[in-house]
Amino acid sequence: MRKSYFWLLFCSLMLVPSLAEAKVRVVATLPTLASIVREVGGDDVEVTSLAYPTQDAHFVDARPHLILQLNKADMLVVNGSELEIGWLPVLLTGARNPRIQPGSLGHLDGSTLVPLKEIPHHKVDRSQGDIHPGGNPHYLTDPRNGGKVALGVAAKLGAIDPANRGDYLKRAKTLDQKASMLADRERKRFLSIPAARRHVVTYHQSWIYFMEWLSLEEIGTIEPKPGIPPAPAHVSGLLTHMRKVHTDAILQEAYYSSRIGKLLSEKAGVPLVVLPGGADFERGQSYQDYMEVLTSKIFAAITEAKP
Ligand SMILES: [Zn+2]
Repeated sequence: MRKSYFWLLFCSLMLVPSLAEAKVRVVATLPTLASIVREVGGDDVEVTSLAYPTQDAHFVDARPHLILQLNKADMLVVNGSELEIGWLPVLLTGARNPRIQPGSLGHLDGSTLVPLKEIPHHKVDRSQGDIHPGGNPHYLTDPRNGGKVALGVAAKLGAIDPANRGDYLKRAKTLDQKASMLADRERKRFLSIPAARRHVVTYHQSWIYFMEWLSLEEIGTIEPKPGIPPAPAHVSGLLTHMRKVHTDAILQEAYYSSRIGKLLSEKAGVPLVVLPGGADFERGQSYQDYMEVLTSKIFAAITEAKP
């Protein structure tokens, strides 16, 4: 009896570290990507996000503790399309981790999995300030793209950890189906809004995937070009245009200053909708729940406003 007890204890002690080690360590650049990875990976992965939803993912501070996360990672999931170009390369160099460098097995670029929009016909010079030179990187605001990324994450996790390949694929298919159902349901709901009341102004050019999915029409942006701060002449021109064509909502992420959004909101009598800049990964929010927050806030703002 005593002998078997010690044997059991010995076995369980051996088992605990081996199970812990078996988890695939994944780092995602964005919290929304981290939420997708968590759902696909389940208990077989450990996920962290480099950026918070309260940070503009174009400009994240390349802090040393982020290098440490990358140094230990088995897999890195990036948004791509140059979204992280201002801060990720320096972190990757510092991390000295060959497993996750571009081109290696543990590197996944989500932008290669989705149809990108606004790919310029001619080469855009980044020095002119446009921070979307390779196409619009904000594709995760369409849930059908989130589903595609989930399937890509499952394929990559399956290559790194073949023993759990079936589980990854099953969970990714579930996420993809849920995202697709949400996409259909919300599209029907937004189409119930009269076409003349679907005019939207955004702060940054980050809502084009969302707007095309839900048949909203962008009539202007507060930034004249992605990444360029608005000058007074641009803001007054935008206000004149908003009054002329009628506007139903102003959308902006919470990490931008709301000063100009509030000004335009007051002058044009249009609701300003301040939205989270990503899934609240650290508090357990799923990709689907994040999408529900976006759609419900925007739908309510448009339909509850005075026509
Ligand atoms: Zn952008």
